[in-house]
Amino acid sequence: MFLGQSLVQVASLVIFLSTVLPPTEKDPPGVFDRPLEDWYDYIVVGAGSAGGIVATRLSEGYEKVLLLEAGGSDLENDETKIPLLWSALSNSNLDWKFKTIPQTHSHFANKDKVSIWPRGKCLGGTGKINAMALIRGNPKDFDTWTKEGAVGWSYSDVLPFFKKIEHIAFNLSTYNEDLRGRNGPLTIVESRMTMLEYFHEQAAQELGFNRIDCNSESQLGFCRIQVNIKKGERCDTASCYLRPALERTNLQVHLNSHVSKILFDGKVAQGVEFSKDDILNKVYARKEIILSAGVVGSPKILLLSGVGPNHHMNDIGVPVVADLPVGENVQDQMAMHFQVAINMSLATTSQKIMDTENILQYLFFREGIYAQIGVDGMVFVNLDQNNEEPPDIQLIFLGLSYDKGFLDSFYYKEEVKEELAKRTDPNSFVVIMNLLHAKSRGTITLSTTSSSDKPVIDPMYLSDSDDVETFVKGIRFLQKLQETKSWKSIGATLIRHDTPGHCSEEEYDEDDYWRCMVRHFANQANHQTSSCRMGSDDDTTAVVDPQLRVKGIKNLRVADASVMRNNPSGNTNGPTMMIAERAADFIKNSK
Ligand SMILES: Cc1cc2nc3c(=O)[nH]c(=O)nc-3n(C[C@H](O)[C@H](O)[C@H](O)COP(=O)(O)OP(=O)(O)OC[C@H]3O[C@@H](n4cnc5c(N)ncnc54)[C@H](O)[C@@H]3O)c2cc1C
Repeated sequence: MFLGQSLVQVASLVIFLSTVLPPTEKDPPGVFDRPLEDWYDYIVVGAGSAGGIVATRLSEGYEKVLLLEAGGSDLENDETKIPLLWSALSNSNLDWKFKTIPQTHSHFANKDKVSIWPRGKCLGGTGKINAMALIRGNPKDFDTWTKEGAVGWSYSDVLPFFKKIEHIAFNLSTYNEDLRGRNGPLTIVESRMTMLEYFHEQAAQELGFNRIDCNSESQLGFCRIQVNIKKGERCDTASCYLRPALERTNLQVHLNSHVSKILFDGKVAQGVEFSKDDILNKVYARKEIILSAGVVGSPKILLLSGVGPNHHMNDIGVPVVADLPVGENVQDQMAMHFQVAINMSLATTSQKIMDTENILQYLFFREGIYAQIGVDGMVFVNLDQNNEEPPDIQLIFLGLSYDKGFLDSFYYKEEVKEELAKRTDPNSFVVIMNLLHAKSRGTITLSTTSSSDKPVIDPMYLSDSDDVETFVKGIRFLQKLQETKSWKSIGATLIRHDTPGHCSEEEYDEDDYWRCMVRHFANQANHQTSSCRMGSDDDTTAVVDPQLRVKGIKNLRVADASVMRNNPSGNTNGPTMMIAERAADFIKNSK
């Protein structure tokens, strides 16, 4: 068939679809353009995973709430709704596109040794561009927060708030139903990309890891992935909390409103300054200001406002309001990707993704591969012999093949990509190894006092060599999977990824070879936390107290991923949403 004829067919299909498919959702007219008032009861900064919840909950009563978001409407980009397209949203018009400074201990195979930090900039924030995996973290993680002085954050304290978020829409009969929520706004379903899930579950079982609910008491086992997806579309805090509340007259949401600083009267937070359409505005809060601008945004606003380490404030010339370790203790997990070749075509290739049948299946029924996030289950492992909670690594099995399309998603140097392209194979799948409790700590600082300049992000990945050793132990565990009958039945074999100048000179499979590979190829994990960490009053690493109030300041709280005491075992959206629910509860009970 010549090209002209196929174009005619595609065009007629598009015309037909536009007449039969429901129209795309539009913002209610005028809802984001209500005139600004001078005073509100609460001002929430940032409409991301946390801010969407905080504003929704605080506006359940009669108090006036203003929610300020730097980005625009999430409906400007339809791709945010389609689960499989989540990775295409990084580096899109909805991304702040942060980059770290060149790293000295890691990221050696990346361009300029930098790490890319996507963060969502729109209604929904990073929850609008993330992969939608819901993992709460390990009960022991939260017990440790409390033991270290963040009193009130033990597992039994936080469990009701995790449940409050969830509307579990999958069969819980083989799990502990009492630990899961049924009536929350966020629909959670179990998801699977391909039949490979069966082989991973069997392989894990051979190594003693049975199927469990990883959002329950124990995480040590094989788990199906749980995702916040409703009727085949992303269900994040913007679409499932905030949008249903948008018509409330006491809730006002201002988009494209970039907050530059908090306005203080002495040690009392009074209002915020923000720019919209090049106009500088000031608004004031009768009761409280809640910063939910995320792990980069919240410390940045605090530093610009004079809340930060004395020495840094002096360096950049901002008068000090409170000397607090803002932007210190930055943590992330780290992720390393492995290509596993198999002897049959079971994974989803880039070509299969473009298949018209798959596209139509999603457009008509909201089903098929586009309604999945690409994951075929995961295993949490504690690498010590005694195998106690919490786990140290998480292996995520992707049902995607390591092909050219997949390789393109990395920020590797061109020569590295060229080498790896020779090894791509549609008959393969990918395993991501997440280092859950990295010991390395980094910083977020300012280089200027202009709010439009990006902050300086230096996570100092792998500056603690224990992190490298944990990865090496994790790789030895991964190699055990290769020896299972289940993986052998599909010929699952790890493919080498060293390239000239990037560990190819090391003796293959020696510990030093893997240490080198970790420093060259491990990347950030998108689970950044703790830039405004919580802790007791006498904890010199803490920015907020256990009720999330900025220490020494009145009427100012932080509620988002930045307050996490430490990174929990798993991903960070679940804990962030729990923190937001807790923050709203603290505020309502502090009246
Ligand atoms: C690519 C990717 C995939 C991920 N996948 C998962 C996953 O599958 N599961 C999981 O649990 N976690 C995942 N995460 C992490 C998770 O999404 C985040 O931890 C979580 O969304 C953080 O929420 P937050 O409320 O702290 O910040 P955000 O959601 O980033 O919200 C901050 C909001 O504040 C706004 N803002 C910032 N500065 C200002 C300002 N000056 N003025 C006004 N507004 C401002 C931002 O635009 C944004 O809307 C992923 C992250 C990424 C980047």
